[in-house]
Amino acid sequence: MSHFLPKLGYNYDALEPHIDARTMEIHHSKHHAAYVNNLNAALKDFPEFADKSAEDLIRNMDQIPEKIRTAVRNNGGGHVNHSFFWNILKPSVEFKGEIAEAITAKFGSFDSFKEQFLKASLGVFGSGWTWLIVNSKGELEIKGMPNQDNPISNGEIPILGVDVWEHAYYLKYQNRRADYVTAIFNIMNWEQVNQHYLKTLEMAKSR
Ligand code: MN
Repeated sequence: MSHFLPKLGYNYDALEPHIDARTMEIHHSKHHAAYVNNLNAALKDFPEFADKSAEDLIRNMDQIPEKIRTAVRNNGGGHVNHSFFWNILKPSVEFKGEIAEAITAKFGSFDSFKEQFLKASLGVFGSGWTWLIVNSKGELEIKGMPNQDNPISNGEIPILGVDVWEHAYYLKYQNRRADYVTAIFNIMNWEQVNQHYLKTLEMAKSR
């Protein structure tokens, strides 16, 4: 067993009323746990990957043997995505910092950003994620991606991501994905998101 379900930095009810405690509990202790278990099961007979982080695995998908590539893509991606997601949620964090300035410069305003992010979220057919990334040109970009695919598999850097699988919102919001995505912006941890953004600026400088 080389991959573990991380503990949340808050209680299951910490994000109420925007995300309800029951959804958080099932999402973390069942869905995320299943990705971790399935990733470990896929890697069981491949000890050469035992010391690789889940990020490293999905960053270099072409190095994964074909026999387990889909399992690693889906479950390694699921593990990385959910670990990332829990960390960017926190109640009552102000929209500020370098990322806020960059978002306002790129999208015109915070409201316009949220509008475009919502539109991309509604454009994800079936299950997937909506991402704010830094693309290969070093620019902020919003994009929807299917399933558990993560931008790092394309050489892009995720700044924030929202899980739009039905399991992330169905208990409270049923089919109303728009209401869920709108609510998420009340619990976005902009301090953590800003850390992701600052790291990309440093990487760009050292290149
Ligand atoms: Mn999920």
